Amino acid sequence: MTVIYDKVAVIGMGLIGASIALAARRGGLATTIIGSDQSPEVATAVARLQLVDSFEADAVHAVADADLVILAVPVGAVGKIAEQIVPHMKSGAVLTDTGSTKRSVVRDVAPHLRDDIIWLPSHPLAGTEHSGPGAGFESLFDERYWIILPLDADEADIVRFESFITGLGSVTERMSPDYHDKVLALTSHLPHLIAYTIVGTAVDLETQLKNDVIRFSASGFRDFTRIAASDPVMWRDVFLNNDTAVLEMLQRFSEDLSYLQRAIRWQEGDKLEALFSRTREIRRSIIDAGQD
Ligand code: NAP
Repeated sequence: MTVIYDKVAVIGMGLIGASIALAARRGGLATTIIGSDQSPEVATAVARLQLVDSFEADAVHAVADADLVILAVPVGAVGKIAEQIVPHMKSGAVLTDTGSTKRSVVRDVAPHLRDDIIWLPSHPLAGTEHSGPGAGFESLFDERYWIILPLDADEADIVRFESFITGLGSVTERMSPDYHDKVLALTSHLPHLIAYTIVGTAVDLETQLKNDVIRFSASGFRDFTRIAASDPVMWRDVFLNNDTAVLEMLQRFSEDLSYLQRAIRWQEGDKLEALFSRTREIRRSIIDAGQD
């Protein structure tokens, strides 16, 4: 139990914000955790679940005395909140976010920064298809990667922030915004887009067929429905804000799909088997890396 930052303010008390508050309390990483959210329903749930030490409906009040401010809101809202709160932050305080896209967040926050604020964008590679404060749990980040984008921060400030993140249970990794968005476009954003498409296709089927798809949705389709149940606002913002990298990966995916289409049409089983063997290896390496 080591306090890393005295006062920590979490703006946006959904799945990620609530889990941060719980994990920070578990790790004894702060003396006070202040929560804030725009939604009165969220405020009631945060109080009922006793997620934080105090709650402020107005983010400006939440950050006034904070040593670390965490923005855990949809990426489309990050710039606007930064504009509101940065003028009221304490000199020397750290500002971070948890957004799933990084180039857009860096772009949107830049005009509102101050020289005496330490800006360290970040992204936990942990989540579920659930949203809201009730979905949060303290072990969400355990042994999951948490990407940190150091930009031009001082090494001592980065190291201190990394110790807070490891205190939440995560393993830290440093990246640039461009590289982050490329990697995530393939590992997270494209799979979500595919899941939304497949489940959307099922929705459009005629009633009898749709009912049977739902009834007999053994492993494959059922797994896609879990991913496609993810928060619509969060994912709308992800695709709008990582459009370049997602469209690039989608282009490559379409080419690879055409290759498979052709192999099926021409009964080229060797091509299919060769690819499926390679993909099986990827699955094994993910399990070996403890990221299952
Ligand atoms: P969430 O469960 O939907 O929670 C977001 C919360 O932020 C909601 O309570 C929302 O209130 C609130 N909010 C939105 N705009 C706000 C504003 N202007 N001021 C104050 N509060 C505001 O979303 P989440 O899953 O925790 O995601 C939060 C962030 O983490 C996103 O940027 C997301 O990309 C990132 N992330 C998510 C996951 C995941 O798997 N879910 C994983 C890693 C990173 P309303 O309900 O009233 O809008």
